[in-house]
Amino acid sequence: MLKNNGLFDDKLSDKIGLKQLNGAEEGENEMVRNKGINMSTIKQENRASILKILKTNGAASRKDIADIIELTPAAVTIIVNEMIQEGIIKEVGQLEEKDKRAGRRKMLLNIEYSYKHVIGINIESDKVSIGIANLNGQIIHHHVMQLDKTIAPTQFLKKIASTCMKILWKQNIVRENVIGVGVGIVGRVDLVSGSSKHAYGLWREEVEVKRTLEHALSIPVVIDNNVRALALAEMEYASEGNLDNMLFVKCGPGIGSAMIINREIYYGTHSMAGEIGHMVMDDDGPICKCGQRGCLEALASQEAMIKRLLNDFSKENMPILYALTRGCRESISFANMELAYESGETMLQSIIDEATAYLARGIVNVIRVYDPKKVILYGEIFKWPLFHARVLYRLRQIISDDILHELIVISSLESESDCIGGIALAIRTYFYKIGGMNTHDLIKKINL
Ligand SMILES: [Zn+2]
Repeated sequence: MLKNNGLFDDKLSDKIGLKQLNGAEEGENEMVRNKGINMSTIKQENRASILKILKTNGAASRKDIADIIELTPAAVTIIVNEMIQEGIIKEVGQLEEKDKRAGRRKMLLNIEYSYKHVIGINIESDKVSIGIANLNGQIIHHHVMQLDKTIAPTQFLKKIASTCMKILWKQNIVRENVIGVGVGIVGRVDLVSGSSKHAYGLWREEVEVKRTLEHALSIPVVIDNNVRALALAEMEYASEGNLDNMLFVKCGPGIGSAMIINREIYYGTHSMAGEIGHMVMDDDGPICKCGQRGCLEALASQEAMIKRLLNDFSKENMPILYALTRGCRESISFANMELAYESGETMLQSIIDEATAYLARGIVNVIRVYDPKKVILYGEIFKWPLFHARVLYRLRQIISDDILHELIVISSLESESDCIGGIALAIRTYFYKIGGMNTHDLIKKINL
């Protein structure tokens, strides 16, 4: 039986779920009281543990959950039944129990992933991607809007919010059925205030992203750097397993990385860990968006390569590519660049070779520091066989082939729907971490 020492109110469901209370001694209860742990926190933690078990192991019975969570089956039953009533968990069928009398069956439970929705937003220097998803990260609607740099950042955020509301309306989803919004944004982010400190290529000033969007949407908002958000999505939804310790490298207009250690993002003291794109690789290199000279991003990003290519593009410098495109810059594509490269276009070869060499060197430097299990490469550019092959060639010059084969993986996330990062962030923050508790209370606080 569970004890009730008068610490908690009399409602039976509220007495349930305290690991320390379940069979604990008086002294331990006293410790709990002194620590100021209240019942709702413990209940939330136990609900979070149940969701984690179901998410990790798939369908399980009340007894299976009780064995893992170390609570009595009776306690688990009360918590689980409450979650079934709320629609978070559902019964999914019966299974014959092993090592039991023939015919004895157990009811399996699983998460009802369509219980509520989340919104994911990705804000980068070239576009904003918005997605609505269920709690399994499945995107049910995706929308891309162009970035408008002619208006103030807060005005633009309000425009994003009104686009979100229109999408919800079109999808027939009421605001109350959206548990949270996750925003991935380029550059530095203050996680506590939810502000963007310096979004390279977007705005230099501090912008209150969380506050602005929460006021406009009346839905709780969590923000993080876009690469970190994508790394979370990679860990949660990509088909490759063993991503509990990984380096995630995103190569697009800029270069960014995120480090996952024991299934958690490593932020560093000032939340600046992983800024691989701003490691100085050449003191005499080109000026970067951040103001430094010779950053990896200024030497090896897609944008940096295109900039060099267009600067040098002429009939004299690149005769093969010039002929393939009939001198038309707009006709330059990965396909004709590859053809020109293979046909011996020396200037083009040196642009691509230099960029891929810098990128490989940057990645290896980070591998040396963190020794990750996997390195995930993310970005459209890695789907370009020539670029991918050149990066691997350069990596192979530094790391032995057998290690490289196991270590380097191209992301299986669809780079066109990069709002998946915000979606993963929202689900993690407003579903799993709070045990599927109602986020409406948070919304009420926003409106105060
Ligand atoms: Zn930089």
